[in-house]
Amino acid sequence: MSETTSCLKCGKPGTESSGELTPDKGRVIKVNHSDGTICEFVEYDSISTFLDRGKRTPDLELKKKKIMKCPVCGEKGRVGNYRRNKNKKFYKWSYLIVHEEIGGFWGKNKKVKRVRRCYMKTEDQTNQILKRLGRSGDKV
Ligand SMILES: [Zn+2]
Ligand SMILES: [Zn+2]
Repeated sequence: MSETTSCLKCGKPGTESSGELTPDKGRVIKVNHSDGTICEFVEYDSISTFLDRGKRTPDLELKKKKIMKCPVCGEKGRVGNYRRNKNKKFYKWSYLIVHEEIGGFWGKNKKVKRVRRCYMKTEDQTNQILKRLGRSGDKV
C-alpha cells in the first residue's frame, strides 16, 4: 500500500506507506523521498474515529487480547506500552509484557506493586505483539 504524495512533514514529494497503529489510535506514516530520506509521523484518522465513536471495543475483549504468550520468555503475561523517547521520537511506542507480581512495591509512595516485566527488544518481538493486538502495519 503506497502512493506518491507530498509529505506532510517536509512538503517534498515522496512515497507514502502506512505502518503500525499506535496505542492512542494513530497510525505511523512513513514517507520515502527520492533523495533517500525518510520522514515519519503519526496520523490520526479522525474520520474513522468519528464513525467508530458508537461502537467501543468491549473492554473485556481488549483485555483478552492483551493476554498473550510473551515473545521474550514464553510465559503468559499482559501487554503494556510506553513511550521510550518522549522528545526525539514521539511517534515510537515500545511494548512490554507484564508478568506476575514479585512482591514488594515500586516508587516513592510504595503504591505500585512490583511485577516481573519483559521488554520487547527486537522488531520481531514487537511485531508479535502488534499482530496479537491487530495493530500491525500489514493490514489496514
Ligand atoms: Zn518528508
Ligand atoms: Zn516474559
